[in-house]
Amino acid sequence: MTTYTNPDLHCHSVVSDGTLTPEVLAARARANGVDLWALTDHDEVGGQQRAAAAAQAQGMAYLTGVEISVTFAHTTVHIVGLGFDASNAALVLGLERTRGGRGERAREMADQLAKAGIAGAYEGALHFVGNPELISRTHFARFLVEAGVCKDTNEVFRKYLIEGKPGFVPHRWASLGDAVHWITQAGGAAVIAHPARYRLSANEEFALFSEFKQHGGQAVEVVTGSHSAAEAVSYAAMAQEFGLAASRGSDFHSPDESHTDLGTLPPLPAHLQPVWDLLSERIQPAH
Ligand code: AMP
Ligand code: MN
Ligand code: MN
Ligand code: MN
Repeated sequence: MTTYTNPDLHCHSVVSDGTLTPEVLAARARANGVDLWALTDHDEVGGQQRAAAAAQAQGMAYLTGVEISVTFAHTTVHIVGLGFDASNAALVLGLERTRGGRGERAREMADQLAKAGIAGAYEGALHFVGNPELISRTHFARFLVEAGVCKDTNEVFRKYLIEGKPGFVPHRWASLGDAVHWITQAGGAAVIAHPARYRLSANEEFALFSEFKQHGGQAVEVVTGSHSAAEAVSYAAMAQEFGLAASRGSDFHSPDESHTDLGTLPPLPAHLQPVWDLLSERIQPAH
């Protein structure tokens, strides 16, 4: 089995809410020493062929990727899929349905922001959108920064876009079971993304991990741009407790916004099983 020393299995391109193209991301990953890469756009596999071709051009091994929005316990949880067949009909249809409500949600967000005194947010956000089916809160955040309402996108989320704030519109995404099944029946592995980011009670978190496992989920992100070192330690323990493999990914979106660059994370704790070892048959080799 090939040994990979610097896999980065989570990032976003202009096909969802990143600011770089798949080709520029691939070059950046390679320059930072990534030897196994996955592009994981939100609810969308439209960038996979470009990403795989760009990885090959850079001499980097590739796994297909996606990050699916899931509604669980009254919040949004993200499930990453890796190593699936990106042309699988059930997966493609499921993602299409998951994306479906984004346009209407965006219009409601703009209406609410208008009531809060910020006009033109829908058109403003659209200006930042690379894929019309994938308008996201991130695009609104970029518009509010451009409009001078906030100094950076973190401030926008804090003041306008999270639950309880004026621009937040509750939305129903995919179910946990559907997301895991779409990925696994397409030959991939499902991964709980950045678990420390969800504000779940201990009981809800236990339910998330056990239901995920029952549905056939195989891994959890332990080392991610969204986790502190202490959180990585605590989710390493969760991986062991639930018999899950571990993944590693920066969640890079943009040079101006992301504090963790591609390929710059610490390694996975040595006692964990890397998710890419489960997917050796699904890796598109470097050469
Ligand atoms: P959406 O899928 O439209 O709800 O947008 C979710 C995206 O918003 C995430 O994938 C992140 O890229 C971004 N995001 C969520 N929370 C924050 C935050 N607190 N600060 C910056 N970006 C965030
Ligand atoms: Mn995002
Ligand atoms: Mn996420
Ligand atoms: Mn992400």
